[in-house]
Amino acid sequence: MRPAILNPLFADVATLPGVGPKTAQHFARLLGDQARVSDLLFHLPNSAIDRRNRPKIRDAQRDSIVTLEVTVAEHRPPGGRSKGPYRVLVEDETGDVLLVFFLANQGWIEKSLPLGARRWVSGKLELWDGHLQMVHPDRVLDEQGLARLPPVEPVYGLTEGLYQRNVQKAAEAALARLPALPEWLDPAFMAARKLPGFAAALHAQHHPQTPQDIEPTSLARVRLAYDELLANQLALVMVRADMRDARGRASIGTGEISGRIEAGLPFRLTGSQTQALAEIREDIRKPIRMLRLLQGDVGSGKTLVALLSLATVVEAGRQGALMAPTEILARQHYERMKPLAEQAGLRIGLLTGRDRASQRNQTLAALAAGDIDILIGTHALFQEKVAFRDLALAVVDEQHRFGVHQRLALGEKGEAVDILVMTATPIPRTLVLTYFGDMDVSTLREKPAGRQPIDTRAVPSERIDEIVAGVGRAIKSGARVYWVCPLVEENEELDLSAAQERFEQLTQVFGPVVGLVHGQMKGTDKDTAMEKFQRGETTVLVATTVIEVGVDVPEATIMIIEHAERFGLAQLHQLRGRVGRGSGKSSCVLLYKAPLGEVAQARISIMRETEDGFRIAEEDLRLRGEGEVLGTRQSGTPGFRLADLSVHAGLLAVARDDAQLILSRDPALESERGQALRNLLYLFGRDAAVKLLRAG
Ligand code: ADP
Ligand code: MG
Repeated sequence: MRPAILNPLFADVATLPGVGPKTAQHFARLLGDQARVSDLLFHLPNSAIDRRNRPKIRDAQRDSIVTLEVTVAEHRPPGGRSKGPYRVLVEDETGDVLLVFFLANQGWIEKSLPLGARRWVSGKLELWDGHLQMVHPDRVLDEQGLARLPPVEPVYGLTEGLYQRNVQKAAEAALARLPALPEWLDPAFMAARKLPGFAAALHAQHHPQTPQDIEPTSLARVRLAYDELLANQLALVMVRADMRDARGRASIGTGEISGRIEAGLPFRLTGSQTQALAEIREDIRKPIRMLRLLQGDVGSGKTLVALLSLATVVEAGRQGALMAPTEILARQHYERMKPLAEQAGLRIGLLTGRDRASQRNQTLAALAAGDIDILIGTHALFQEKVAFRDLALAVVDEQHRFGVHQRLALGEKGEAVDILVMTATPIPRTLVLTYFGDMDVSTLREKPAGRQPIDTRAVPSERIDEIVAGVGRAIKSGARVYWVCPLVEENEELDLSAAQERFEQLTQVFGPVVGLVHGQMKGTDKDTAMEKFQRGETTVLVATTVIEVGVDVPEATIMIIEHAERFGLAQLHQLRGRVGRGSGKSSCVLLYKAPLGEVAQARISIMRETEDGFRIAEEDLRLRGEGEVLGTRQSGTPGFRLADLSVHAGLLAVARDDAQLILSRDPALESERGQALRNLLYLFGRDAAVKLLRAG
């Protein structure tokens, strides 16, 4: 049970004063359905406006945000029926500035900016047509208003329909609900690192006194990141301890079914695949629970290892599950595995969130009766109604999107379920243990034979016409091409419009052989778009990054990535990994907008140098570290809200040691500090692990 002291933080954001039903809906889009007060508190500002910057007009820097003390000199309303803006000329003793209001509310302007009055206007100063202007000042204040102006104003990530002031007000109200929680960190550790308390740290983030206060390296932010990492590490250590205690069941395969699958393959397993399978089967055979990570670069053939592992438990008369992060991937796994599985006598089923009720009930009944051997699906597999007859092995694809919660939920679907986690994001050795907890690891280092290196080029975007022409020639001779559109940071809608535009333009050039797939499409439309490309009905597939993970169309040999400079290294590598999967010669074009920053340049040259995902992962980590220094930080770490491993990686090992020490001294979290730590686990949604604690 959640400690009652946390209840105010778990209330719906809609219960906050000033958050009406409409704003609540926007918050749901921003923070997820059922957004809670704590979600809002953890939605930290990503920058801050310094309103202390109060120069004279003459000294004010253009294109920066300034607060000017001015006198209102002249009103210039738009003439007659003109739709032009309403302008107000303001001045100080050093110069003047035009305030510009489009679609102005004249009454408001007259009231706020009376002629001759002294006012403070704050906003972005620009030079337009030889004159300084400020379009729609953020603030127009009199002396009293100025006194209330926060010197530094937090700026939050938004979603359409939501404004800074909505989030600011809501965050304010959320802070007021923050109860006094007992400290869960070791006081000596806090003192040594000069860390503030949890509440103080949150206040510092939402009420920055200087822009530096919200930097990821600030003490307040480090405190919060550490909290999140500690919660995560505690949960991982608890899960692992629980799995070690729980007796597993031995599943002894006969090799019959997997033998038939292997015999049906047009190729032989790589040495790495054989090795990984041996490790997995060894675990499955033992009466302990497996918790193993299968790491393999894109295209290294993890899916087949998964299928053969699943076949092994079916041979032992039990069932398996394979969980993918998206519908597209679940379907793709299903389609690819089905023929192989069926010729070997395996019965496989598919369960996604989109199934019709009747079909779904049928699948569930067959699963419970043991008429399905292997169930493939999305998160839908976690739902309570999903009951296996005898689940032995759960394979989780692309782990980084799954948390401890899901891992536990899946483990509960059967008695002592073995878990195999697959990831195509090679993780630097230094991070594996800390990131994933204490897992065993199998690695596919080798790629299937016959793969040719991918010819990777960087081309400035001015030469896009040449690329389009080249794509035209390629598709005439039968090639299939992915065209990935720019990533517009944290804004799905803009991502979409870029893709849409490119789709329309390429359709004009190439005709109806161009397809489009993006994250906001209806699921069935996404499938259709993918299938058409798979079958070759479309030969150019314009896509947002939805294709990043796992999509497998071996016939595709060309990958174009627009605005490659906006993508991180790991992402570029994943995208490029969509080609070079068959025996054809593949190429990848990184279109970039010049001039390239230092880090973007480094990323692109690493991409050209190597296809080794592990090397790329190491370089990525290194560059992210440096990127931080160079001020081009990439967006955070999946699964974490406050911690960003590109900045806080050093804290991970500390948190891990801390977690181990805590649990070795107080395994049931019963001491005073243990109780406080329970709050921490709930706060960061790691409370599923609390259930594992046994008294005594
Ligand atoms: P991953 O999931 O690791 O990115 P996949 O499992 O999707 O890779 O495999 C990529 C492609 O390689 C698939 O088309 C698969 O059929 C093929 N493949 C897998 N193993 C081998 C092998 N040993 N030899 C040749 N091709 C293979
Ligand atoms: Mg895969």
